[in-house]
Amino acid sequence: MIRVMATKIISLGCRQCDNLVVEYKKQGTGALVRVLIERIQGPKSLLQLKQIGNKSDLPPLTCGECGALIGVPTIYEGKRLAYRLVKGSFKKTLS
Ligand SMILES: [Zn+2]
Repeated sequence: MIRVMATKIISLGCRQCDNLVVEYKKQGTGALVRVLIERIQGPKSLLQLKQIGNKSDLPPLTCGECGALIGVPTIYEGKRLAYRLVKGSFKKTLS
């Protein structure tokens, strides 16, 4: 029997203006403190981030509507590009 880890798609919206910022495939339970670039599902404009290889080339994650800062570029587990989410800048919903 194959055990499949629970995966769900989460939408993060800007807390200030409600604009959808990122759709993310989250594994497991627990608080969302960062999003790995490789697991971003949308919107389309963010998918091109997967081409980026260096943290220094990664732009901050901001709201496309009001420009609020949502995530700061970081590296997870030594080599995976990610955004560390700014506490209180977003709200999440299950999609
Ligand atoms: Zn916004």
